[in-house]
Amino acid sequence: MRNSSITPEEDLYHKLKWLMFFRILFASLLLGSTIIVQLKENSFPPDKSFIVLHGLIVIIFLLSIYYAFIFRTVKTRLLFPYIQIGIDTLLVTLIIFITGSFTSIFSFLYLVVIIYSSMIIFRKGSMIMASFCSIQYGILINLEYYGIIDPYFLKESSSIGNYAWNLVFFKVVITMLACFAVAFLSGLLSEQLRRTKKELSVMEERLERVEKMAYLGEMAAGMTHEIKNPLASLAGSIQILRKEIPYDPEHDKLMQIVLRETDRLNALVSNFLLFAKPPAGKIERVDLESALAETIKLFQKNQDTSRRVSIMSDFSPNIWVEMDPVHLRQVMWNIILNAAEAIEGGGLIKVKTYPLKHNYACIEVSDTGCGMTKKLIQSIFDPFFTTKSSGTGLGLSIVHRILESYNTWLEVESEVGKGTRFTWKLNRIDIPT
Ligand code: ADP
Ligand code: MG
Repeated sequence: MRNSSITPEEDLYHKLKWLMFFRILFASLLLGSTIIVQLKENSFPPDKSFIVLHGLIVIIFLLSIYYAFIFRTVKTRLLFPYIQIGIDTLLVTLIIFITGSFTSIFSFLYLVVIIYSSMIIFRKGSMIMASFCSIQYGILINLEYYGIIDPYFLKESSSIGNYAWNLVFFKVVITMLACFAVAFLSGLLSEQLRRTKKELSVMEERLERVEKMAYLGEMAAGMTHEIKNPLASLAGSIQILRKEIPYDPEHDKLMQIVLRETDRLNALVSNFLLFAKPPAGKIERVDLESALAETIKLFQKNQDTSRRVSIMSDFSPNIWVEMDPVHLRQVMWNIILNAAEAIEGGGLIKVKTYPLKHNYACIEVSDTGCGMTKKLIQSIFDPFFTTKSSGTGLGLSIVHRILESYNTWLEVESEVGKGTRFTWKLNRIDIPT
């Protein structure tokens, strides 16, 4: 059902591809500009710094080729972007070092790295990269300030020794602060973007389903009508025949089969209509305790499973909800019926209600039945999905449809061989007693 939404992994790949492209673009631009400067200065042999810069560019190209090679096969999927961007910060430090350390104009490149890291590895990642950049910059400037390393190519006049220590300190602190501020802000934005994207894709999916269902509903209503009428005449004719023709046990058996099967077809078609076009409910205030007790009583009376399956109820008093009681009964009936059918031999179904904070309440139905695998759970709400030889696969689809109209949802937890628990969280209302 989902088509337009891409997985996070694909998204990551996509972004990494762009990053690799821009890295190469950056290296090419750097190469181009150094060549132009060199040609202008016309210095031969080239300056020492240019050679190092060219070396750096070659490293970036080689790294890019390497990344491209291991791109699809790399095992550490989550670590890969961290490693790539981490290496980028080292390269930036190197560029800053070559172009004059403290006086280099390239310290802004840290911010560029942090911004794209927030787009790729989000808030946490960009914060990590910001710390990484700050540490590198701090170490670099300190080493230079204390004369442990020499700034790479510099005329004496612009060496760090000419600056007051507080100016140096100030610039380092400002750079670090800038790194964290940018990481924080761009991280915030990217998290927001990520959330919005997710919400959008959920909404898209929902809309698509609603559209499909509306169409299906119209079709089903027409079809049901067309099927039910001939079925009724069929059953009626057989009943008349049964009375008219002399009794013969063979014929009677056959006619009973026809009647039974028409009943079954009738139920299936009605169920399908219920699923495809559920009637709008009449909202009432319902006391969960009495409504559920009644449903369970009815269930035990009607189902032959009740002899082997016992139902235990544990209801909190005074929970009121607003919904159509017919819908409530239908949902509970389908869930309890499934639970009973999941139990082979003897077993127990527990139905429990309890209030939650913020005007919510929960209904829990747990059974000691066969349970389901994770994969199975993903399909149980699909129409016509069933694992039973005589199932219709419509029970939970109807439940789904009804819940959708109340904006609530069922949670399913299950363990194969142990049992299943359906948890239904719904809105509770306060009734002045
Ligand atoms: P049906 O009951 O006609 O098969 P449903 O839509 O009611 O259709 O259920 C779909 C499927 O979900 C069932 O066939 C069953 O495999 C699974 N299922 C539902 N409830 C349970 C449960 N409590 N325990 C185990 N499996 C369940
Ligand atoms: Mg069912």
